[in-house]
Amino acid sequence: MKKVIKVLLIIFSFFVVINSVDAKSLKQLREELNQDIANEAALIKKEKELQGKIDSMNKEIDELNKKIEENNNKIAAIKQKIEELNAEIAAKQKEIDNLLSFLQVSNGDNIYLEYVFQAKSFTDFIYRSAVVEQLTKYNDDLIDQMYQLIEENKKNQKDLEDEIAASEDSITKLEEILKKYGLDMNDLDEEKRDVRADIEARKIEVSEYERAYKDAGCAEDVDVKDCVNIPPAGQFVRPLEYGVITSLYGMRYHPTLHYYRMHNGLDIGGNSTGTKVYAAAAGKVNKIVNRSSCGGNMVYIQHMVKGKQYRTVYQHLHSINVSVGEYVSASSVIGTVGGGESYDRCSTGPHLHFGLLKGWDGYTYYDPRNYIDFPGKGGRFYSRW
Ligand SMILES: [Zn+2]
Repeated sequence: MKKVIKVLLIIFSFFVVINSVDAKSLKQLREELNQDIANEAALIKKEKELQGKIDSMNKEIDELNKKIEENNNKIAAIKQKIEELNAEIAAKQKEIDNLLSFLQVSNGDNIYLEYVFQAKSFTDFIYRSAVVEQLTKYNDDLIDQMYQLIEENKKNQKDLEDEIAASEDSITKLEEILKKYGLDMNDLDEEKRDVRADIEARKIEVSEYERAYKDAGCAEDVDVKDCVNIPPAGQFVRPLEYGVITSLYGMRYHPTLHYYRMHNGLDIGGNSTGTKVYAAAAGKVNKIVNRSSCGGNMVYIQHMVKGKQYRTVYQHLHSINVSVGEYVSASSVIGTVGGGESYDRCSTGPHLHFGLLKGWDGYTYYDPRNYIDFPGKGGRFYSRW
């Protein structure tokens, strides 16, 4: 859900940028930058708070595990104690048996009775009965006591086992919350990186406009389009969010024309028809060509990057979102990737041909890799910066 809202927000912000880049003043751009900086600070604060919660939960889990270990040690001691008591009971039993046999008891079924009935006189009978009674009582009491001890120990063992089960339950619950917090943390991190990239881009934009406004002597609340002919930019960025370099700038054997000729730009594949194409820097749309037999639909944008004039060209577009004279920013979607169209004999499938020229009206092409950080042939990129 969060992702969907984010995507909608991004689409909405593109809409805003496309429609209002020419109605913004330097003052407004600076306010937007400050808002981004405030957003970043808020995200960092949130992240810190969440990290604090995660840390204290991990500490709680550590403590629970320590308690489980302690309880397990206690249980081991109890089991040992029960074993000892059982051994003691057996020993006592044997001791009593030995005592009775010492009193000349034969091997009959009931040693006590035989001992009593072998009395030689009535006095002897009474005496023997008393001895047996005492021995039996002593025996019973002792064994009772030990069995009682065993019961107490068993009860303690059960209590400890219950405690362990409760601790394990708590750990499971804490781990579930931690998992959720981990996901929240990833979201925050992603948001933070987006805002950071935004801040970097806006900082450059604002500083370049400051220079241009100063040169032109404009007040800060004057709209960009009323002060600066071409919006200044601090750098070029990649015109696609991802892609693979399928063909470099330079001499090559043309794949569809079948002869050696100059390839005056970079071919970027790995994208399907309809993928968004962005302006490589802020600028003004200078020229649009529709359905060229070699290049298809094309957009040319004029730029002022670090005080120098350039044009960029985007070929084989499936659709075009801008019109001539329109001001764009580096986050403006100027069109979408095409390349499979039948009228375009210079393309075999979806890709963007991206060219860079020096000067606002010249036709001298330069290698875009000298101005933008693109990988080499076959190399992939996954972001615009
Ligand atoms: Zn090309």
